[in-house]
Amino acid sequence: MARIAFAGLGVMGWPMARHLSAAGHELRLFNRTREKAERFAAAYGGKPCTSAAQAADGADALITCVGDDADVRQVTVGAEGGFQSLADGALFIDHSTVSASLARVLAAENPRLLCVDAPVSGGQAGAESGQLAVMCGGSGEAVDAARPLIAAYGRRIVRIGPAGHGQLAKMANQIAIAGVVQGLSESLHFAMKAGLDTEALLDAIGKGAAQSWQMDNRAKTMVEGRFDFGFAVDLMRKDLGLVLEEARAVGASLPVAALVDQFYADVQKLGGARDDTSSLIRRLA
Ligand code: NAP
Repeated sequence: MARIAFAGLGVMGWPMARHLSAAGHELRLFNRTREKAERFAAAYGGKPCTSAAQAADGADALITCVGDDADVRQVTVGAEGGFQSLADGALFIDHSTVSASLARVLAAENPRLLCVDAPVSGGQAGAESGQLAVMCGGSGEAVDAARPLIAAYGRRIVRIGPAGHGQLAKMANQIAIAGVVQGLSESLHFAMKAGLDTEALLDAIGKGAAQSWQMDNRAKTMVEGRFDFGFAVDLMRKDLGLVLEEARAVGASLPVAALVDQFYADVQKLGGARDDTSSLIRRLA
């Protein structure tokens, strides 16, 4: 069993840490709002810490699941970041969705650590049930060392390539989702305008070539106008921002992803920043 410093007890990090605790690992907890770390410790054990540096002192691994690039920098190389105290040869696993360049820089500048950029797919439900898909970037040695820890909440753990490739794979995932959600939104918008019985429609086409995870899990609630679960529009805009920046850097043309990013900006203006991504259909109404 490992001693793990865990930073970021949010929607995703909390259930991940809970699975690690249930697997018998010893947790050192750090969260920007300290009360969450105390609440977690009271419910599931572990030691709340005042900084990532304190949490990482003597730990075998630092696992982070915070917000964006600035947050990851703060909990790793910041003044009271975990890298200040993390021992040589320890593991660093980042589950946040951030830029590939940050993942590359952290790994290149800290060769004494085993660094893995490991963004996830599967959302809150996947984290709660321990069924996340995890896309890993890093050396084979680092990913192999990370595997037994990630297994506490990961169903698929795939090494994509060297440092940064986990984040690049997550971007490919988000590009695919953006187009599918817009296509599904237009399909349902059309069906409702044309007066179709949407239940019968989904029954008919839901097992055909139009089938998708989004159709299986979101079409019914999109028709009902319910957008109160899943991955928030604000987070999707953050991810599409990373995608479009990387696309410029590598010379990839992403017209649909760029358009859907602007459509999500419309949803934010409609007051839907915290709604889930299937709320894209709202701007068509
Ligand atoms: P969240 O609910 O906002 O949780 C983030 C947690 O990290 C919060 O508890 C926050 O503390 C803490 N935090 C942020 N910055 C920090 C810092 N500098 N120092 C210490 N703690 C800090 O976000 P989430 O939904 O769990 O997402 C986390 C990451 O996973 C993001 O990068 C997101 O894009 C990615 N992701 C999310 C989903 C999803 O469905 N939600 C799916 C896949 C990937 P406070 O308590 O102070 O806010």
